[in-house]
Amino acid sequence: MRLALDQARLAARGGDVPVGAVVLAADGTTVLATGHNEREAGGDPTAHAEVLAVRRAAEAIGEWRLSGCTLVVTLEPCTMCAGAITQSRVDRVVYGARDDKAGAVGSLWDVVRDRRLNHRPEVVQGVLAEECSELLTEFFRER
Ligand SMILES: [Zn+2]
Repeated sequence: MRLALDQARLAARGGDVPVGAVVLAADGTTVLATGHNEREAGGDPTAHAEVLAVRRAAEAIGEWRLSGCTLVVTLEPCTMCAGAITQSRVDRVVYGARDDKAGAVGSLWDVVRDRRLNHRPEVVQGVLAEECSELLTEFFRER
């Protein structure tokens, strides 16, 4: 999560909402990929930290299935990212701050644990939550 927080800070530097993500390999320690929000930087509405990290992780291992992998992200994923998470088949999602306005992993929706889907990753929430949300609060306060 510390690494994801570093990524989040990079996003803010480029004028993007500070959200950062990391994909860990099946061993739980090897970093396969990182990502941070690049919506403003790249003019791409889908360039959320999780989507970029998942894409890069798949590139790194040379296949789209991220079975066994863990996605660590500073903010609860939105519906798009929750979709990318189920499509990528990561086995674990760890997130920091809850997103009561758009969260799709337990707050507004719980897409990744919907029993109608046949791939449902394990979810761990609230890791360094205060630090993750403080970064967002600061960013929006400055705007
Ligand atoms: Zn998202």
